[in-house]
Amino acid sequence: MTDALLDLHVHTTYSDGDMAPDEMVAEALRMGLAGIAITDHDEIGGIEVARAAAPPGFEIVPGVELSTSDGKSDLHILGYYIDTTNDNLLRYLKLFREARLQRGIEMVERLRKMGIKIEVEAVLEIAGGGAVGRPHIAAALLRNGCVESVEEAFRNYIGFDSPAYVPKYQLKPSDAFKLIAEAGGIGAMAHPGTSRRDDLIADFIAGGMRALEVYHPKHTESDIRRYERLALKLGLVATGGSDTHGRRDGILSLGACTVPLSTLADLKAARDY
Ligand SMILES: [Zn+2]
Ligand SMILES: [Zn+2]
Repeated sequence: MTDALLDLHVHTTYSDGDMAPDEMVAEALRMGLAGIAITDHDEIGGIEVARAAAPPGFEIVPGVELSTSDGKSDLHILGYYIDTTNDNLLRYLKLFREARLQRGIEMVERLRKMGIKIEVEAVLEIAGGGAVGRPHIAAALLRNGCVESVEEAFRNYIGFDSPAYVPKYQLKPSDAFKLIAEAGGIGAMAHPGTSRRDDLIADFIAGGMRALEVYHPKHTESDIRRYERLALKLGLVATGGSDTHGRRDGILSLGACTVPLSTLADLKAARDY
């Protein structure tokens, strides 16, 4: 018998994923996973839905992936075992949602001023009640036939430095770690191999980081070895997950990266540390 495995990085329809949390739980069970962490971008609404769908013994790790920036790089910070009823966290997520909605409306207004046929309502409908982001605007442009691909939407209209681009409201990484710790969670730098900002790790630890996402589909073998060594040396819990957003091109990447069940005990011990 193989060891029980968990996928600690899963997105659902509550952010930019295209599968509902309960559907994700069903798929994870079918694959024989022992649990998953629901880590939607700046949203925690999917956790309850996943919990309700999970049978006894199947672990739902309540998580979140916060969007932050240090002014140079976009940095994703994961929070595991957060208290989903924490006032500070809920207040922040609400503020973030409002700022994102406002940003989406502004980008649509800019596009309309450029003569592009796009409606705010269509973007909201595509977002399906989740956090509004540029992929939803791109999908609306694609649906209206204004562009032939999502790439074209980003290149010509809403990509960084494009005419309808509006900067995002961004949390600082240190504030994200604080928020997660205050909500009783364990903070981790997500997919460090993509941002390549290892220079920040020492500061992050000083700010409360207790884990590092070592196993991620975008990490090369050498990234994995490097972060494994770093985690060990710095006393960080090595976490990992598929970062699945559902079925892309018909393929569900859930379970593409996993960690053993013992990681959960390590995370809980790190929280109590
Ligand atoms: Zn991320
Ligand atoms: Zn993610």
